Amino acid sequence: MNAEQRIPAIQIENAGDPDFRARARKSLKDEQLRRNFRTAMDSLMTKRAAAFSDADERERLREMGNHIRARALSKLPELLERLEANLTRNGVKVHWAETVDEANNIVLEIARAHEARQVIKGKSMVSEEMEMNHFLDGHGIECLESDMGEYIVQLDHEKPSHIIMPAIHKNAGQVASLFHDKLGVEYTKDVDQLIQIGRRTLRQKFFEADIGVSGVNFAVAETGTLLLVENEGNGRMSTTVPPVHIAVTGIEKVVENLRDVVPLLSLLTRSALGQPITTYVNMISGPRKAHELDGPQEVHLILLDNGRSQAFADSELRQTLNCIRCGACMNHCPVYTRVGGHTYGEVYPGPIGKIITPHMVGLDKVPDHPSASSLCGACGEVCPVKIPIPTLLRRLREENVKAPDDPHKVMRGQGSKYSRQERLIWAAGACSTPARRCTACSASSPHAFAP
Ligand code: SF4
Repeated sequence: MNAEQRIPAIQIENAGDPDFRARARKSLKDEQLRRNFRTAMDSLMTKRAAAFSDADERERLREMGNHIRARALSKLPELLERLEANLTRNGVKVHWAETVDEANNIVLEIARAHEARQVIKGKSMVSEEMEMNHFLDGHGIECLESDMGEYIVQLDHEKPSHIIMPAIHKNAGQVASLFHDKLGVEYTKDVDQLIQIGRRTLRQKFFEADIGVSGVNFAVAETGTLLLVENEGNGRMSTTVPPVHIAVTGIEKVVENLRDVVPLLSLLTRSALGQPITTYVNMISGPRKAHELDGPQEVHLILLDNGRSQAFADSELRQTLNCIRCGACMNHCPVYTRVGGHTYGEVYPGPIGKIITPHMVGLDKVPDHPSASSLCGACGEVCPVKIPIPTLLRRLREENVKAPDDPHKVMRGQGSKYSRQERLIWAAGACSTPARRCTACSASSPHAFAP
């Protein structure tokens, strides 16, 4: 790809538009978008159901997954220290970033130290949080996505609309038109041919790149191992071909030992795509050793907080961090499947987005997210690690209507939907007359309570 064909930095669709409802109304009128999502989600739900045909086994596995994640979080600081010690012993350089700005600057520092001009990226939602492509582009460094779905949305200057399948909102015809327009290739709706076109374009980039960036599915404290699952092989290429590998991940991705990974992997791949296992399971434990033929000369891990400590500090909201990013809650959500991922205007859409995003950006930046749910419970029922998503959504709604001067500060931006007038109306209307008893406590005397 020459300079003219270079893909410009991603423009965030809907950026700056805080109105979730307006975006949802627009998406609901887009018949093509709704057809694309319906088709894709029906297929994913069917595949997941087939992968978990034994309900007893599924529930035992979910219980185990919940236990493993809860145990890891219960000793998170200790496990992170152990992870750092073991990775360092293995030759990996570990960096800590409290904010996305810090994380981006660490990447830039490494890139400058190596005079890097080109970065190739495997799939990483944390790098999306950081808007790494946009940041590096601003510093004259090209950052190219190598996951096919990510490549498609990057080519069309969009954000991913699903955490597992970034381009799920597009059908084959739309991808064909995109490739024809942007890459100048012959129009074809043949999916195999489209994949070959993408592969041919990307293949050379792996060898030209100065740095490979990847995410991490699980970081194993006991051995200092970074585990990465994928189906396309681009993750392996990104982490082994360029001379420098930078892995970026959230602090919650740590697990205690390798034994814990086995059930979590089974839950992840079956819940996400109905697969018993992914095509590639990469286990990265350090840079290339003297006797090894391939692998990077340098491996870095950036551990990003970005609001996760805030969720961790509250025993109920902490459960948000159990997430293994399978996307099943999105596939089964009646809201997400109708409005699509871009409607949320944030990196993480759907049910998981509604509970994690407020910690990352502040509840006041996404005031409608906790309410954009029917509370039907489907998300909680399918979550492989049993995150009680509806309960957490109700909790966030409560935080959203807390009085600004409430002494119990839980999160940034809480109380953004507080209305003194509404509270007074509730207090007066529901509880002020003896004839109308408060349904919450049966009191007949006037008193105020949170709506
Ligand atoms: S909240 Fe549960 S279902 Fe949703 S992405 Fe995370 S692990 Fe998967």
